[in-house]
Amino acid sequence: RFVSPVTESTREVHYDRAIRPATLKDYVGQVAVREKMEIFIGAARNRNEPLDHTLIFGPPGLGKTTLANIIANEMGVNIKTTSGPVLERAGDLAAMLTNLEEGDVLFIDEIHRLAANIEEILYPAMEDYQLDIMIGEGPSARSIKLDLPPFTLVGATTRAGLLTSPLRDRFGIVERLEFYTIGELATIVARSATKLGIEVDDLGATEIARRSRGTPRIANRLLRRVRDFAEMKYDGKVSLEVADGALNLLHVDKAGFDPLDRKVLLILIERFGGGPAGIENIAAALSEERDTLEDVVEPYLIQQGYLVRTPRGRMVTDLAYLHFELPVPTLGRS
Ligand code: ADP
Repeated sequence: RFVSPVTESTREVHYDRAIRPATLKDYVGQVAVREKMEIFIGAARNRNEPLDHTLIFGPPGLGKTTLANIIANEMGVNIKTTSGPVLERAGDLAAMLTNLEEGDVLFIDEIHRLAANIEEILYPAMEDYQLDIMIGEGPSARSIKLDLPPFTLVGATTRAGLLTSPLRDRFGIVERLEFYTIGELATIVARSATKLGIEVDDLGATEIARRSRGTPRIANRLLRRVRDFAEMKYDGKVSLEVADGALNLLHVDKAGFDPLDRKVLLILIERFGGGPAGIENIAAALSEERDTLEDVVEPYLIQQGYLVRTPRGRMVTDLAYLHFELPVPTLGRS
């Protein structure tokens, strides 16, 4: 039998391209950010200048890459995309910078993971559009300076606090993305469904939205999985019943928590008496990366009020006990 060489990740990319909004008007939610960007982009265009360097931060899947692409689109310029961990040598960044045309957007994802020596190249590039690098080694090494065309650096990071202050200070625009409301996610699910030719009714879209951890990427991914379920077990239409059945099968619970969310809350309750517990101890107990817990898991649990950060560590709230139908302890918790 012929097996398609298309992997999940390339399929994900195709799918993503089909549904990613291309204009600010189609960017759902994030009203405050959108209104400000409209003004900044409009003003820069009127002055015929590149947009100020822009830093976008927020948990994964909330639309940082999408917004960077929209900025380039609305400014009518090209976008060149790279990421902090990919830029290993100074020459990698120099090559990207010297390839830019006037006004272009250079998008650096995970900008907090840039190596220090590469970050330093960005400072004069951002400030004076100057490239200042050493070429060669030993006695013949010399420094060269090149003029760069005016450009816009758009950086994305999960937490603004991860950036060094000299880098953070060089961004003129700093925007934080928030988790989406259920209504906003339902709109995203409905639009994606239309573009992909999936039939979803309002209650079905809302159920997927409710269980997507406030995150468009998750909403779109769950829509795809629910569609599989609808096609195999039902008539292909996504209703509340179909969405609920599929999401239960996928171990996405009523609060939208996935298995890792539940493990974090349960380990705090069962092993640490509800907390406080240090993030390192929680990570060790779960054999998980600390970064995953801090970037992906915690922000949503905190926003939803299941977890709090205290000076002595993380603690679950009463909501967490109620979620697992466990008795809420009345003594010994502060
Ligand atoms: P990030 O870069 O923050 O990890 P992305 O920009 O890759 O997130 O967004 C993930 C997916 O969610 C994209 O495929 C896009 O289709 C969708 N998405 C993100 N933000 C929005 C939005 N505001 N409106 C509609 N769809 C969105």
